[in-house]
Amino acid sequence: MDINFECTMCGKCCHDLKLPLSVDEALVWLERGGDVQFLCEAVPWPDEPSADNLQAQHKRRRSFAASSGELPVRVVVVLAASFEGACPHLQANMSCGVYEQRPTVCRIYPAEINPFNELKPEQKECPPEAWASDKPLLMSAQRVVDPETFALIARSRATDVSDAPAKARACADLDIDAAALANEGLVVYSPPGDLAIAALKRARESRDASEDVLQWKVVSNRRETVDTLTSIGATGVHYVKTDAPAFDYLGFFPASA
Ligand code: SF4
Ligand code: SF4
Repeated sequence: MDINFECTMCGKCCHDLKLPLSVDEALVWLERGGDVQFLCEAVPWPDEPSADNLQAQHKRRRSFAASSGELPVRVVVVLAASFEGACPHLQANMSCGVYEQRPTVCRIYPAEINPFNELKPEQKECPPEAWASDKPLLMSAQRVVDPETFALIARSRATDVSDAPAKARACADLDIDAAALANEGLVVYSPPGDLAIAALKRARESRDASEDVLQWKVVSNRRETVDTLTSIGATGVHYVKTDAPAFDYLGFFPASA
């Protein structure tokens, strides 16, 4: 099936987002006064996956090795520009105020960066006229054929991989050491902008190739998950909202006591 697309500049996709950013983009966003959150998830990693397990290999490339108690894990950290309502850069006429410097993810939308996600126009914010058959061809047989979008996706995936060590260093610097169990939720840290800038700069510039395995806690809002984690030697933490939490937890499932 072919998918044609041309942006109508309606601005609908520029609201209520956690926009994934590279380390360099996060620094630019923070230096403009925006908020950047650290979204953390941990994947139990008792053994290395086979080469033909493409999903696991994809996760491996964009994560870093750590331990939770005795359990080997891999931690995925996404730096996300976070805002409720309109993006701080969205202008009254729905144009982007930083168009020439906008993040890569804004340039790629509505195409998918994750190679395992299928583009479904009905799940996107874009109006029907953006997908009309007289618009430029974006995808054919589920492959991106627009050369600019193709190149942007390739670059974004490569940066996601090359950024992983710097994210590990920035987390250690900021005392970020808790992650949600993958596919159950996300642990969300919102460090002050000045601290995040300093930590990301140090992390980006560091040549520290330390082989130390970092210790992380694995958090869940479900008691049965925490019990299972604990039974296999992990440092499981039951998330309960408090008045002054070190982090927030975005659960994909209802909490259990
Ligand atoms: S940076 Fe620009 S394109 Fe990206 S969400 Fe904000 S207004 Fe939209
Ligand atoms: S929702 Fe789609 S059509 Fe509207 S501005 Fe975003 S990318 Fe363009």
